[in-house]
Parts: sequence; C-alpha cells; structure tokens
Amino acid sequence: MITFPKSLLEGYRSFRTQRLPVEQSRYRELSVHGQSPETMVIGCCDSRVSPEVIFDARPGELFVVRNVANIVPPYQPDGNAHGVSAALEFGVGALKVQHIVVLGHAQCGGVKAYATDAEPLSPGDFIGKWMQLMAPAADKIGPRGAMPGADYLRQLEQANIVNSLDNLKTFPRLRKLIEREQVSVHGAYFGVATGKLWVFDRERAEFSPVAADEHARMFAQPRF
Ligand SMILES: [Zn+2]
Repeated sequence: MITFPKSLLEGYRSFRTQRLPVEQSRYRELSVHGQSPETMVIGCCDSRVSPEVIFDARPGELFVVRNVANIVPPYQPDGNAHGVSAALEFGVGALKVQHIVVLGHAQCGGVKAYATDAEPLSPGDFIGKWMQLMAPAADKIGPRGAMPGADYLRQLEQANIVNSLDNLKTFPRLRKLIEREQVSVHGAYFGVATGKLWVFDRERAEFSPVAADEHARMFAQPRF
C-alpha cells in the first residue's frame, strides 16, 4: 500500500495534467542540453517562501539552495561537509551563474529563535550551532532592547541577509568573479503577509521596495 502523502499525489496529478503539457518541450530540451540557470538563490526552508513561486520561475531558471534562515556560512575548507559551499561551488564553478540572490523573509522562525533566545526550533544537535552563524549580523544592529521587538526582528532578518552577502565574498574564487563583475550578488526580503519584495540597495545600505506603486494600487482597490 502506498503511503506517499495524498496531497502530494494530488499535486503531482495537477502538475501532470496542467503544467507538464505546457512545459514538456522545455523539460525535454533541458534533459538533452542540461541546465544553465542564470541565477542562484539561497533561501530559507520556510514553506511560505518558495523562490520559484515568488519569482514565477520556470523549470531550469533558478538554481536553489535552501536552509534554515538563508544563511551562507563563511568559507571554511576544513574537510568537513558543507552543503551551501558545495552548492556555491557547483553553481558558480560548473553552472557559471551570473547572479546570486540571498532571499530572506519576514516572520523567519530561525531569526526569531536566535533573537529571543527561545528553544531551538526543534530539540536536537544542529539548530543552535547553525543559528550562531547569525551572531555577526546581531552584533551590527546593537542591543535587542533598544527598539520595539518587531522592529528588531525585521532589522535582524535584513542584517542576516547582508551578513550572508558578506560571507559570499569570503569564497576566494567567487570574490574574484564579483570583483571582475562576472557575478553579481543581491539581497532580497519577502514580506509574507503582503507579498511585497524589497531588494538591498548597497549604496544606501537599505532595502528598497520593488514595484511599490503597483503594489499600493493593487491593495487600494477591492479585488472581488
Ligand atoms: Zn526563515
């Protein structure tokens, strides 16, 4: 008896009857010629923040690695297994992506766990240590009590994205490609409740909204 989740089987049925016919030739082409995505996304595991959904991406367009709180650990060639570093090595070295986007988001459980010193998201051996990679971001925004809790969380979520961007430059080969402008790195922040997207403006050192006018119009009018 198959115990595979029913919702996934139904989802697959829907994919096969609706999306696959539209994408079939694309899948065939990708299977013959291989993938050549221009963009790599480093996102959070959070089920509400799927890069393919947010960027309306087709098969073969995004090379995605997701982990708790969209963290890029610094370059550390110590012989241990490093998942994000391996994905970066493949994305940059083999696929030759031109853009790397670190996608963070509002209401990030990982960031909140770090900020509130709450119990780790799940009891175990890994989350606490992983979250410590966020410490440099927390150091930059100062003490937690200096601002309202919601503001602090948003600032830490965004500082964590910038910290990941900084860590990308600790990879020697990638740093060279960034300096030669062969690869560009970007930060983005997704507002789960509103669907708004902000991108990091390095010159102004802040996140700016994308399509803010369109968004305001959309929410100004009743949609039904
Ligand atoms: Zn998250």
